Parts: sequence; structure tokens; C-alpha cells
Amino acid sequence: MSENLTREMTSPSDPSPRDAAGVRSPVYLVGAGPGDPELITVAGLAALRRADVVVYDRLAAPALLREAPVGALLIDAGKAPGAHTLGQEAINRVLAEHALAGRAVVRLKGGDPFVFGRGGEEALHLRERGIPFRIVPGVTSAIAAAAFAGIPVTHRGIAGSLLIATGHEAEDGPDEAGATRASPLQWEAIARAADTLVFLMGVERLGAITEGLVRAGRPANEPAALVRWGTTPEQVVLTATLGTIAAEAREQGLRPPAALIVGKVVALRGQLAWFETLPLFGARVLVTRTREQASGLVARLRALGAVPLEFPAIACTPVDDITALDAALATLADHDWVVFTSQNGVTAAIDRLAALGRDARAFAGARVCVIGPATAASLAERGIRADLAPATFTTRDVLAALVAEGVQGKRILLLRADIAPPDLGDGLRAAGADVTSIAAYETRGGEGRRPELATLMEGGVDIVTFTSSSTVTHLLQALDGEAPALNNTLIASIGPVSSATARAAGLRVDIEAETHTIDGLIAALVAVWGDRDSRSPVTAAGQSE
Ligand code: SAH
Repeated sequence: MSENLTREMTSPSDPSPRDAAGVRSPVYLVGAGPGDPELITVAGLAALRRADVVVYDRLAAPALLREAPVGALLIDAGKAPGAHTLGQEAINRVLAEHALAGRAVVRLKGGDPFVFGRGGEEALHLRERGIPFRIVPGVTSAIAAAAFAGIPVTHRGIAGSLLIATGHEAEDGPDEAGATRASPLQWEAIARAADTLVFLMGVERLGAITEGLVRAGRPANEPAALVRWGTTPEQVVLTATLGTIAAEAREQGLRPPAALIVGKVVALRGQLAWFETLPLFGARVLVTRTREQASGLVARLRALGAVPLEFPAIACTPVDDITALDAALATLADHDWVVFTSQNGVTAAIDRLAALGRDARAFAGARVCVIGPATAASLAERGIRADLAPATFTTRDVLAALVAEGVQGKRILLLRADIAPPDLGDGLRAAGADVTSIAAYETRGGEGRRPELATLMEGGVDIVTFTSSSTVTHLLQALDGEAPALNNTLIASIGPVSSATARAAGLRVDIEAETHTIDGLIAALVAVWGDRDSRSPVTAAGQSE
């Protein structure tokens, strides 16, 4: 076969395409990082975002595949044990074929491509065929899984060297002839080589590895840890000693993938564990707000250890008939008060104002009232400071705050959602104001996302968040009669209005924010999730602490 390849390579009519500069497009062997999708490198992400073809492994974070361009060909190299979707030969062939067809190919591998990733073999194969390649190193699980368990692989005065080994080649017990399979020499070399030893692919041969090390002189009471699905919300850490960890792992049914860490540094976890102790660790939270608004909440949830699942149940669109909004925007300065009830209202109105060729000066002498800090911030970003921002955001409180300013005979413009209830306008009119209430935007069902909806239906969501009444209504519409899917999740609402809508639709509300903001909602989630943990300590397999 290699003769064949060589012939191809030296063929005078080399088919591989070149870019405008005459340079052939390389195959990128990219390290995806250990599991947390944010742990890919900047260079790796850039390559992924330019890819026509992505050949990915089981251990590469699935969320990363969404970073590939829409329409990119995603090929599962599925090297899961026992489920060889594509053998190594086939992978090599696929990489070469697509590269030779001029496509931007990314080979996405878990961790680092050259640390037990067979990246070297793939690079050699490409080299043989004359196909250029680039290596984008990744954060290896050997170090990152330990770090996320609060275990520094080296530590001044405790461990000055690190060895990373495969556990795959350790053989269990004596062979048929009764001889010990693993070479005692090999174990002695490994046992002495470094202070900290990390074994990848070792779960199935834990007994052989730990016995081999003890026989070779590592103390049986040396601390050892297994980190399963390190850096992900499914992370489970089992700590024991070299002498006991194999039996404990078996007892707890701990499955791959996991990294085995042996050495005194493991004891530092007692003080340095930081990941599983995050306030929302492991909580799978459905975010139903618009795509534009979701990012802030999603980032906050992730930073607290939660797994945010974005399902934009609603979308805000311009109103069909824009004439009333245009007329209102043309007369902004004639009003005593302009009231924005949401961030979406700010975006819709100010964008429209800009489209009409005008700017913040159109507000001139009008005073501006906003409901909620996000609305205030959004307005401030556009150069307008609110004159009034009531501390609480229920209609009653906002009404009271405006009335306290003296609204009798004043002209008030409300810029709101098409579906906003009439209460605020009615209340202001009752207090003697001259109110114009205009729909600045429409709320529609969002495009949602199929995988997230499927996850919800399959019980893969712990908490569903509702940040407005319309998120409730539209999620239920998207569920299309499958509301029972919500029976086994906690339902969290940003405030009484969303809660009322949920209850009216027959849902149970488990969590309601005291302060009706995203911060308030997060605070409520943290309280409930933390409480849940103290009531029923996590006893998942392998959770030893
Ligand atoms: N190239 C990868 C390793 C591939 S070998 C890297 O650099 O990380 C596969 C082994 O890596 C698994 O059997 C397991 O031992 C380890 N591994 C991969 N991801 C892991 C994770 N998130 N947590 C713990 N171990 C992991």
C-alpha cells in the first residue's frame, strides 16, 4: 500500500489543490481539550470555524461541533471501545481524500492530538501522501482532569516530576502458562520514573496497574485518585490509596473515561477541590429567552458550574405595521416621560430611530423611565441615562414610582411588547396622565433547537428557567402537548408574572426569584441547588467525598 501511495505522491499530475498563493491546504490535527468545550485553544477554534470537513472523536466535546460552519461535513470517527465506526486506516483514508479534494479538513481529537491520540500516526500517513498538515496542541486530560479535581500534577516540595503512561498495555494476572504478563522491569522503571504518575486508558486494568506499582515499590498507602469525565459537569472523583483504589472503583462501578493519578499531590485535593464545589455544579439548566438575550445568562450559569442548554422559545421581531411606532418616535420630545418596559423594547425602538436617521437627541427634554437594570444598561449603552429606574419591577411598583413623580396631565409614551398587559397604561390614565401605548416589537415563538428539546423530553434537564410569560407560553407550544416532560424538572421563574402564567398553564413553579432580574434568578437557583445537595448528598457512583 505504501508503494502505491508513494507513486501517487510523486505523480506528475499532483491533484491536490492550492490556494491563491500556491500553497496546498493543510489538514489540521486539532486538540479539542479534555471535555469542557471552552478548553480548546484559540488556534483550534479558528481552524474549526473554517472547516469544510470535521472528523471527530468520541472524547471531543460535542458542543464544539456547533462551531463548525453550517453545512460542514461532520464525520464521527467513533473510536468508542467496541464500537469502531471507522478504523484507523479508514480515518487516514478519509482525511487524505477530503484534503486532496481541496476541502479544509480538521481532525478533532480529545485532549492533545499527540498524547495517546494517534495523531502521530495520522500525521505520518498524511506526510506519506504528501499532504501538508498542522498540529494544534490541546489541553491534555492527563493534566486538566487532575487540575479540575484540585490536584496539581507537580507541587514544590512534593512532586518534581510527572509521568504520563497508558494503562492499556498493562496485562491482567498471569497468562495461560501461569507467567506474569507485565514485565516487572517495566513496572520498576515506571514506579521510579516520577513522583506523580498519570495513567490514561487504565480503568479496565486498574488491578494490574496498581499491583504492578506496589510490587515495584510504590507504597500501598500512597494517595491515588480516579477522575472520570474530568472538566465536564459529569466529573466524578474517587480518591483512595494505591492499595485500595482498584477495589473501590470496581465496587462503585466506575467506568471509562477516567484518568488515574498516583502520588502525594493527590492529597492536596483535600484543600484544592474547587470544581464540584461550584454553586450550580452539574445543574443542567434550560434557558428559554431569546438568542440575543440568552448569552449573559448562559455565561453566568457556566461560570457557576451549570450546564446551560439554550432553547430560544421566543424571538423578538419588528412589528408588522411600523407606522404607529414611527409616529411615536417622531414625537418623542413632545412627551414628558418615555417608558421602556424591557431591553427588547430599547433595542427595537432605538434601532428603528437610527433607521429613521435620528439619534438620542430625539428624546430632547423627555424624561426616561426604565423597568429593570438590564433595560437601563441597554439604554445606557446607547448613550441615554434613565431618569427613573424603580427598584422593584412589578407593575404596581413602577406605577407608584411614576405617580410619585406627578403624572397628572403629563404626556407619557409607553414603548412595550405587542403582548404586554394593559395594566401600566390603565393605571397611569387613572392617575390623570395622557398615555400613548405603542407596541415597539412583537414576541413570537423562537426557532428553538431540536437537540435541546429532545434532551428536555428525555429528562436530561434539571431546571427550566422562565424569564417572561412569553417564554412559558412558547415553550409549552414547542412541547406541543408534551408538557409532562416538565414534571421531573425544577421550574424556575424570574417573578410573579411569569409564575402566574406558568401556574395558569397547569405548571408547578418550584423557584421564584425574589429580585426579578437575571441576578435574582441566579441567586434563587443557587439557593435551591445548594439546598438540594445538603438534603440529599450526592451519592452517585464514584463520588467518594
Ligand atoms: N489525547 C487524549 C487522550 C486520549 S486516550 C488527551 O490528551 O487527553 C483516552 C483516555 O484519556 C481515556 O481513556 C481517559 O483515560 C483519558 N481521558 C480523556 N478525557 C478524559 C476526561 N475528560 N477525564 C478523564 N480522563 C479522560
